[in-house]
Amino acid sequence: MRAEAVRAALAAEPGIFATVCEHTSTERSLEATFRELRRAPDGSLDLVAAQNPRAADVVRLYRDFRRRTASYYDEEDLAFAAAGTVAAAPLALRDIGHVVLFLPRRLSPGESALVDALAGEGRFSAIVGLSGEDDIDAPARQIAPRLAVQVAPGPDEETTERHGDSRIVLVTDAEEEVRTVLRLISERSAAGTRLHRIAVLYRAAQPYALLAQEQFRAARIPFNGPGVRTLAQTVTGRTLLGLFRVRESGFRRSVLADWLCGAPVLEERDGTPAPAQRWDLLSRSAGIVRGAEQWRDRLARYVSSLRSERENLEEREDVSEGRLRHIDSEIGHAERLAHFIDGLAADLAYSGPPTWPSFAAWARGLIERYLGGEGHRRDWPEEEIEAHRSVMAGLEALGELAALRPQIDEPTFRRALERDLEASAGRVGRFGEGVFIGRLADARGCEFDTAFVLGMSEGLLPPRGQDDPLIPDRERLESGEEVPLRTARLDEERRDYLAALASAGERILLFPRADLRGQRGKMPAPWLLQEASRLEGKPVYSSDLLNPPARPWLAVVPSFQSAIDGGLEPGSPQEYDLRSILCWRLAGHHLLDHHLTRTDVALHSGLEADIERQSERFTRWDGSIGPGRAAVPSAERPVSASALQNWSTCPFRYLLGNVLRVAETERPEDTLTISAADRGTVIHRALERFLRDAPALGSPTESWSDEARALLHRTGDECCDEAEAEGLTGSPLLWRLERARILRDLDGFLAADEEMRAELGVLPLDVEVSFGLAEQGSKQAALVELEDGRLIALRGKIDRVDRAPDGSRLVVIDYKSGSSNPYRELRKDPVKRGQLLQLPLYAVAAGSAYGDLPAGAYYWFATEQQSYERVGYPVDDEVMARFREVLAVILDGIGAGLFPSRPGQWRFDNFESCRFCPYGVMCARQRDRVWERKRNAPELAAYVQMAEGDD
Ligand code: SF4
Repeated sequence: MRAEAVRAALAAEPGIFATVCEHTSTERSLEATFRELRRAPDGSLDLVAAQNPRAADVVRLYRDFRRRTASYYDEEDLAFAAAGTVAAAPLALRDIGHVVLFLPRRLSPGESALVDALAGEGRFSAIVGLSGEDDIDAPARQIAPRLAVQVAPGPDEETTERHGDSRIVLVTDAEEEVRTVLRLISERSAAGTRLHRIAVLYRAAQPYALLAQEQFRAARIPFNGPGVRTLAQTVTGRTLLGLFRVRESGFRRSVLADWLCGAPVLEERDGTPAPAQRWDLLSRSAGIVRGAEQWRDRLARYVSSLRSERENLEEREDVSEGRLRHIDSEIGHAERLAHFIDGLAADLAYSGPPTWPSFAAWARGLIERYLGGEGHRRDWPEEEIEAHRSVMAGLEALGELAALRPQIDEPTFRRALERDLEASAGRVGRFGEGVFIGRLADARGCEFDTAFVLGMSEGLLPPRGQDDPLIPDRERLESGEEVPLRTARLDEERRDYLAALASAGERILLFPRADLRGQRGKMPAPWLLQEASRLEGKPVYSSDLLNPPARPWLAVVPSFQSAIDGGLEPGSPQEYDLRSILCWRLAGHHLLDHHLTRTDVALHSGLEADIERQSERFTRWDGSIGPGRAAVPSAERPVSASALQNWSTCPFRYLLGNVLRVAETERPEDTLTISAADRGTVIHRALERFLRDAPALGSPTESWSDEARALLHRTGDECCDEAEAEGLTGSPLLWRLERARILRDLDGFLAADEEMRAELGVLPLDVEVSFGLAEQGSKQAALVELEDGRLIALRGKIDRVDRAPDGSRLVVIDYKSGSSNPYRELRKDPVKRGQLLQLPLYAVAAGSAYGDLPAGAYYWFATEQQSYERVGYPVDDEVMARFREVLAVILDGIGAGLFPSRPGQWRFDNFESCRFCPYGVMCARQRDRVWERKRNAPELAAYVQMAEGDD
């Protein structure tokens, strides 16, 4: 309500805030300043307003805010009302009795009036805490005249009672800080301290609130304290805000997939949860990036391509039932997803009146549609059910704001909702059960045996002061000191800190010496140095704590390992186990003989993997899966050239992709520009269609007609349109450039084609000739016999086959759209150490399909940038002998189960073999060192000779 009143005042007459009145930070700043003005006497506002036009505008907005909220009441109104009631009808106190004010802070006018009224009736006492520091004690002393008593002088700085038993612990970073606390708590617990007598306190919620709760949970130590989650982070909050984000992003695929995967979103009202992960993968396959329209179009296109694939397969005899079932299921899911998107787009198109009640009802309706009714929450954790109720209650409350502003727009509603959902989702545990974890201010008035204070680094204790840009302290002072000063907040912080220290007999102050995530060192907090100086009896400086001397009041934890093998109690079951294993090893035993590693399979495997990978043996942890475990290509089991090339380049890549079938799932939105592979597909497709449709040529030396040139350009255009519709082309601007480049490449191709035909004396015979593939019209697989008599069937697709007019010669061509550099080595080795096998393979396949003719085979780099270069050779006996030789090594390696990772040489920014490999994240960063250790293993000798041996 307060935030909406601020927004309404700003919207009515923003004044100097006109350009920033829509910013949430403007609203927040004004709201904070208004809270302080509220604690100032009314008379002081005119003095503030007289300072300058800015202050005058802030006061004007404040008065408007007060007018708009006049029918509501706040704490100050309550305090004045209570004071009036006490003064007018003291009998009202009969049910209340004596009032005790505990550890008072600076009193507002309303609170002062109430204290005066209660004191006048003799029904008031105060318990004040004095620190001996004048500024800090001033609010407490402010109470004394009202009670007509003297407050005794506070303890002086050196009084030991005030400080009790303090210790300082230096640790490496925030995470180690919490772990150290857990160890010290274990120690105290073992010595008899009850957990509820211990507090862990911090000033900065970031990172400590979440970090401490997570680590306590992992260590299974019970705790309680303020919750760290907001309503926005709960299932209901996430679902509602996620819906708005989906619409705001224009139905961006990644945002919608995140939303679906992040909550139990129902597919139908009161239906079952949507299959989020399946739909995520399906939408990637359909190439969807953003836009409700695009979802519909691309899903429809995807369904139709699946239907044609199914029709093709139905005509084949060797198609499996499972394959057809998978296609049917994919079609079913694509149709359901399209239906879901239609409904979602309709639900998110708000069409009600622009009022608070209507927007709130819409939001409640969205939650009910996508999360369902009570029945769907039966399995939710209790705290999520509570949070759901809080979100719904918050929406009810927003619906009642019509009195402040009858009409609003949707962004205003969104902002108000987001503010509402910033509220805490509730505390964790019950006070008094387990260790208390909270902010320093939360410990005021509590009593503990031990208090740990985390994060005592510079900038936090004390925090850096921040003046108010709306009405700075200087102007507040000039207005007669009636408006609370921002610098007074520092006194509050100091009071909280001293109160926290006073809350426990034993205080342990921790200083993390670095922020490991931020990669920077930290300096000790001034208040830590003050405490250290008191303990030392002379000034202690930052440099003293950075190179600490041995002192009874100081402990240093130099590292995690030192903590594990040091004298402290382990802080968690995991540390207990770690220490046990460490001691075992220090005693000279083998790690794998420890009872934990013998009984815990995962631990045993992890340690064994680490040990073996460090060795020079080639083991199951390095890609040795054993003979007969991977299917070996044979006459019955056709294989493609690219699969075999994968093994030659990096056998581990073959294992992942061709044996284990680990598939890469691309995110279409990551496509900034068309990929090299898709660009190649567009060029292939255009050339294939052109050669099918172009008028036949009479002789190798005949030139292409203008009509043919226009046909190729038109075909190129069509293929580009198709790639765009399939969502392969990335950003529109970059695609415009790429498209122009592709069309230029195609335009220039025909001249190169004329040259090639004239030089080799051939004419186009066929295009896209598939062999051994599970598709309509595919020819038989190509059979190759090895020296030892083994037969291997090979499959693939030849881009183009040309033939001499007299039928005496065949030429096979494989188009390429990348760089020709990696192919230059073919001049030395026709199969480049097994990494380029297509040419001899295609020659064999073309020979079987069109008669056993002498064949030339070429990679043709069909782009202007590569000058339409051809790299290849006549496929003679020598080439075939080498081809058979490497095939034998490859088949032997696969049969023996040898799949080491071999990254190759480092070139520019990556390893040679890894440049286009999708499995980079699964391989060791230092994979070159791993290969160096393993490459001399005897079982890898043949592979190493083929891949890296002398030429
Ligand atoms: S990333 Fe490199 S080492 Fe790893 S599988 Fe791929 S090619 Fe092999």
